Amino acid sequence: MQNARGLVWYSERRSLKTKVTPVDRVDRKLTKVDRRRPDRDTMEKAASIIKEGGLVAFPTETVYGLGADGMNPAAVGKIFAAKGRPSDNPLILHLSSPDGALGLARLDGRALAAMRAFWPGPLTIVLPALSSVPREVTAGLSTVALRMPDHPVALALIEASGCPIAAPSANRSGRPSPTDAQAVVSDLGDAVDLVLDAGAVDIGLESTVIDASGEDVLLLRPGGTPLEALEEFFGAPIKTPGSGAPEARRSPGTRHRHYAPIVPVRIWTPCDALIAATDKSGFVGRLRGGGVPPGFARAICFDSAESYASGLFAAFRALERDCSEIVAEWPEADGVGLALRDRIRRAASPDA
Ligand code: AMP
Ligand code: MG
Repeated sequence: MQNARGLVWYSERRSLKTKVTPVDRVDRKLTKVDRRRPDRDTMEKAASIIKEGGLVAFPTETVYGLGADGMNPAAVGKIFAAKGRPSDNPLILHLSSPDGALGLARLDGRALAAMRAFWPGPLTIVLPALSSVPREVTAGLSTVALRMPDHPVALALIEASGCPIAAPSANRSGRPSPTDAQAVVSDLGDAVDLVLDAGAVDIGLESTVIDASGEDVLLLRPGGTPLEALEEFFGAPIKTPGSGAPEARRSPGTRHRHYAPIVPVRIWTPCDALIAATDKSGFVGRLRGGGVPPGFARAICFDSAESYASGLFAAFRALERDCSEIVAEWPEADGVGLALRDRIRRAASPDA
C-alpha cells in the first residue's frame, strides 16, 4: 500500500512490522520484461544477481516467486529473512527441465513419469533428497520439493543462472501471495535486489504439492494442478496426510498462517443469506448477476472458478485498502475450487 507521500507501509494489525521504503529505490528495482520473449540482457542481469547470492523476484504461472541460488545456503537464508518465513518451512527448488532433478533427488519411474506428464506446470513433487541439497532448503527434512514452472521468464532465469532456484511466493510470510509485480514491491520493498515485471500471472494460486517419497502418493497442498488430473494419472485416489500418516511426511508449510489480508475474512456459502457486517464490508466471489450486493461497499466478482482463482489474492489486496472486512464466496470443490477453498479457509482463520 502507498500513502500520499509515496511511502510504502504496512499495517501493524496481525503483527506485520511497520516498514517504510522510499518509492524511487523500489522503482529502480522493477524491470519490465516481455512475458513471451524475455530479453537476454535483462535475464543475464537477473542471473548475475542470483549467481552472486542475491534475491530476484520473478513471475511464474502460479504466483510471483522470491528466488535465490538453491545451492547457496547464505542466499537461501536471505529468502527467509526477507519474508519473515519460519525456518522450519522448506522451500521448493525450481528447475528448467526434468533433467535438473538428477543430482538433487532420488528418482524412480513413477516420479519421472509424473514429471514428464505434468511439467512444466503447477505441480511440485516431494522426493527423497540427495546430500547435495542444502539443509536450509529442506529445513532439515530428508526430502526435497521440486517443480518446473510453466513461464518463459522463470525458465529463462533458471537457465541463465545455471542452478536450481529456491523460491517461495514473493510476499511477507502470512500475506496473500503476489500475482503481479506491484504486490511484490508493496510487501518486500527493498529487501529484494530485482523484480522482473511480466504483468499479472495466469493461475493466481500456488502449485499443487504431492509427496511421492513413500509408497503412497499424498496430497500435501491443493493448487494449480487439479486433484482429478493427478488421480487419473496415478490411477488411484490420492490421500491427504491425516492423523494416521507419519508426522515427518506432512508439509510443514500447512501448519503456518497464510494468505491473510490485513482485515478479517468471512466465508459466505451461497445457500445462506448474504449480509454485510458493516457499511464498509467488501465482497469477493462469483455472485452470478454481478453488481455490488445490497449493504456492501465494494464487490469484486468473477465469471468462472478459474478467474476467481487468478483474481482472489489481488482482490484481497484491493479490498483490504478501503474495507473493514472481506466476505469471500465459498466455491464448489471441483477443479481449481479445491485450492480456492484451501486459500479462503486459511485466510478466514489466520491463526489456524
Ligand atoms: P511456498 O513456496 O511458500 O508456496 O510453499 C511451498 C510448500 O511446499 C510449503 O507448504 C512447504 O511446506 C512445502 N514443501 C517444501 N518442501 C517440502 C518437503 N521437503 N516436504 C514437504 N513439504 C515441502
Ligand atoms: Mg507462500
